[in-house]
Amino acid sequence: MKHYHKYRKVDIGNDKTYYVYRCMLPDCKHYISEKLIVSRTSLCWLCDLPFVVTKGKIHKPICELCHNKKFGKTEDQKVEEILKAIGVIK
Ligand SMILES: [Zn+2]
Ligand SMILES: [Zn+2]
Repeated sequence: MKHYHKYRKVDIGNDKTYYVYRCMLPDCKHYISEKLIVSRTSLCWLCDLPFVVTKGKIHKPICELCHNKKFGKTEDQKVEEILKAIGVIK
């Protein structure tokens, strides 16, 4: 069975903050730089299905379906507009 990483953003820095995305599954020590999360496959934190991460800045990646279910499409677009306006995402 293929292992899909279940990424979570964690701070592994000592003196200063250093975020990475770590796989939270037992026995997996894989982690990647915060900048590399986009276009990686992760398990969704809500439905546990693999999906391709389309944006960073998220502590626990969730798939688009769950995101839309949770926040609603229009809400999502509103949030995205705000994030774009303040330069958080491009
Ligand atoms: Zn893993
Ligand atoms: Zn999901």
